[in-house]
Amino acid sequence: MATTRQDNGPDLYAVLGVDKKASADEIKKAYRKLAREYHPDRNPGDKAAEERFKQISAAHDVLSDAEKRKEYDKARAFGGLGGAFSTGGAGFDFGDSGIGDILGSVFGRAGGGGARPGGGGRATRPSQQRGRDLEADVTLSFRQSVEGAQVPLSVRTTATCDTCSGTGAKPGTSPTVCPRCHGRGVESQGQGLFSISQPCSRCQGAGTIIEDPCPTCGGEGAVHTTKRYRVNVPAGVKEGSRVRLAGKGQAGRNGGSPGDLFVITHITPSAVFERRGDDVEVTVPLSIAEAVQGADVEVPTLDGRKKLRVAPGTKHGTVQRLRGEGPPRLGAGGRGDIRYRFVIDVPKPSTDEEREAVGRLADLFPAAGREKLFAEEA
Ligand SMILES: [Zn+2]
Ligand SMILES: [Zn+2]
Repeated sequence: MATTRQDNGPDLYAVLGVDKKASADEIKKAYRKLAREYHPDRNPGDKAAEERFKQISAAHDVLSDAEKRKEYDKARAFGGLGGAFSTGGAGFDFGDSGIGDILGSVFGRAGGGGARPGGGGRATRPSQQRGRDLEADVTLSFRQSVEGAQVPLSVRTTATCDTCSGTGAKPGTSPTVCPRCHGRGVESQGQGLFSISQPCSRCQGAGTIIEDPCPTCGGEGAVHTTKRYRVNVPAGVKEGSRVRLAGKGQAGRNGGSPGDLFVITHITPSAVFERRGDDVEVTVPLSIAEAVQGADVEVPTLDGRKKLRVAPGTKHGTVQRLRGEGPPRLGAGGRGDIRYRFVIDVPKPSTDEEREAVGRLADLFPAAGREKLFAEEA
């Protein structure tokens, strides 16, 4: 069992009786008042007061340090300290010697429902550890990204060792309680009441040590392996979309749940359809005559061909949409649009007949409005 004490971790603001938005000054004042009231010198032999005094000190320790306070607020915003600080094992974040350690050392006992004399209950270790999340890249054709696809995927990961069932100990033996920390996983560096706990140097916080390591995994409890999957990539993914496969990450330790696998999609560009957010864009060439007199032109869609009516006098760069005929919108439902962008193909005449035809065009449609360009000339 993982310890549960930090799942709804202590509210340090409540401990000091201040508002979440309290200023540094207000925190200092609240702390001084409470520290005086619960100081052991004033309450000799009162264990409850002593415990309270420790909580107040620890809360002040965190909230009076702008950096630690920021981290603490962030951790709470992410759904409690359990979520933020559980990865290092037993609610401690060993990568960060700050809040996790302090809270662990002071609130470890109090959170369990009252102070216990003698300093610390028997911790339930080895603790569960969730497996790490993994990432893998897959490359899809444009068509696959629009229609969805089943793609093979190999992932290098770790799995629970079968020989030792993940304990890391040679079969027939079992991990023994660490003689240095007596299973608590932490060492206290005493400075009276202001003691700070650190992960045990002998067992690295596990609380147990392995005297006879498992021959298969060398005591790790996990082995390297390649997992092969066929991933169902949903229709509508884009370049860089992340598809989460719950529980397909690394195996957890000591019965902890596995991590997740995030599949990141890469799309080979199409020569015809260009992704533009939720839409795709197609460039459609028009002849001068089609642009001038209008036409019905055949265009590709994601589901076959369609006729598009081009209005007479269509300008270069005009965009016409087929609404709801673009790629599926992942997560949002419905489909995007296909945008057809018309570009006018301007030829260079090479025969007498062509030159004559263009000449007639020039007579009939002289450039209009160019005189405006010179309106500001003196
Ligand atoms: Zn130890
Ligand atoms: Zn093993």
